[in-house]
Amino acid sequence: MADVPKSQTQVAVIGAGPGGYAAAFLAADLGLEVTLIDPEPNPGGVCLYRGCIPSKALLHVAKLLNESVEAANWGIRFKSPEIDLDKLRDWKESVVNRLTGGVGQLSKQRKITYIQGRAKFTEPTQIEISPIKGNKYPLKFEHAVLATGSRPATIPGLIIDSPQVMNSTAALDLKDIPKTLLVIGGGYIGLEMGSVYAALGSEVTVVEMMPGLLPGADKDLVKVLHKSIERKFKEVLLQTKVSEMKEVKGAIKVKFQSEEARVNEGRFEKVLYSIGRRPNTEDLGLEDLNIELDDKGFVKVDLQRRTSQPTIFAIGDVAGEPMLAHKASHEGRLAVEVIAGHKAAFEPRAIPAVVFTDPEVAWCGLTESEATAQNRKIEVTRFPWAASGRALTMDRPDGLTKLIIDPETERILGMGVVGAGAGELIAEGVLAVEMAALATDVKLSIHPHPTLSETIMESAEVFFGQSTHIYRPKRK
Ligand SMILES: Cc1cc2nc3c(=O)[nH]c(=O)nc-3n(C[C@H](O)[C@H](O)[C@H](O)COP(=O)(O)OP(=O)(O)OC[C@H]3O[C@@H](n4cnc5c(N)ncnc54)[C@H](O)[C@@H]3O)c2cc1C
Repeated sequence: MADVPKSQTQVAVIGAGPGGYAAAFLAADLGLEVTLIDPEPNPGGVCLYRGCIPSKALLHVAKLLNESVEAANWGIRFKSPEIDLDKLRDWKESVVNRLTGGVGQLSKQRKITYIQGRAKFTEPTQIEISPIKGNKYPLKFEHAVLATGSRPATIPGLIIDSPQVMNSTAALDLKDIPKTLLVIGGGYIGLEMGSVYAALGSEVTVVEMMPGLLPGADKDLVKVLHKSIERKFKEVLLQTKVSEMKEVKGAIKVKFQSEEARVNEGRFEKVLYSIGRRPNTEDLGLEDLNIELDDKGFVKVDLQRRTSQPTIFAIGDVAGEPMLAHKASHEGRLAVEVIAGHKAAFEPRAIPAVVFTDPEVAWCGLTESEATAQNRKIEVTRFPWAASGRALTMDRPDGLTKLIIDPETERILGMGVVGAGAGELIAEGVLAVEMAALATDVKLSIHPHPTLSETIMESAEVFFGQSTHIYRPKRK
């Protein structure tokens, strides 16, 4: 006999990305009865199925390919790699399946009712579920968490419908390795995917309308990455816009507009557009419940992630920037704590951002650009990786660690890193900022040698003009 669907639940979670499933799991751990709804067969969302995880699996391969070339500098010569694209794709899929399957198991172990389908609100305490199989039915809830995430943004009229024009999801499918690839957008997704294709053998051009790659990130960090991207990509076009795209004889003809008019047009076998992401707020019944959106289209939430309907919370990409998986999970867990009656609010001091290019770029807390924009008095200390023993053993002197410090209180307000493995190092900065560490705390914490983490300790030493491995006396 088929299961009769439940007619009510304590917590309904709509969308099972890293925000939704983290929320559902904590709610179950806190003893609440949970229903989790998502179109995919298992939880995972964009992050696990077509975002963070598959892109990092491919970037791991890109790193190996790049290192196999660099090894010639160390007296090791490898033959040109042979790329078995089917096998590579299978391996990437196996990582995704293992992880999503594992999260599915964890959902079952927690006795969460997982429904493969879609949901929309019909009342402040009711959703309508459209399961993949079977008929629509209503589900009453006490609280709901909206975690429907986001999708790639597009520009109607510019982005044409062609199998040669890809968004990030199509790029991750890795159908082939185009000879030439244009990446529209110099943000982290474009640069990460561009790096994958460049390592696999495509000639990659990236076009960005702003004056620098990774708009918003500190310029000194971006400069190091820019140099490396210029070596790996065919061309980096800044302050340039794509004004037209046309399919012509198996290629995409693209027109550019730039003040310098350095390049007016080009032909590319494939184009990847990565020009931002849009929150998924459509077909959810939000208007009927007067759930407000902000001027960028995100669901408006308070410090506890409650929407304008007190029974409904919103978290993750649908609830605002930064659109990152770890921010989504943190918010999801926080909203559930509030639902469970705990005193909690979303007030992180440091949400880390990591760009998994080579070198990686990572930052957290206050950035130098933000401090400048706010006219805030800060001291920035920098430690170049050319002075790090560990960086030299890896032949990776192309790095920089910096701390943003309040000169009066000596408190660490932010950290930035560019270099191999920056994404792992930034966690220490997060802890320092969240724990209100002072430069002295970091300076006096013994860091293991030889590691890249020493560059953080030495950046703190720079604040006192006492770094062991660079000579930079304190200015009086
Ligand atoms: C190529 C790429 C690489 C990325 N790399 C990183 C990275 O390295 N690190 C990082 O932090 N972030 C990364 N991100 C961003 C990250 O994927 C998102 O920030 C994260 O997935 C947001 O989580 P979420 O839970 O808010 O929503 P999502 O992961 O978007 O999940 C939302 C889910 O809700 C479902 N849904 C939508 N509507 C409904 C409905 N009506 N009913 C039921 N379900 C619905 C969707 O199908 C989806 O499964 C990357 C993104 C992309 C595209």
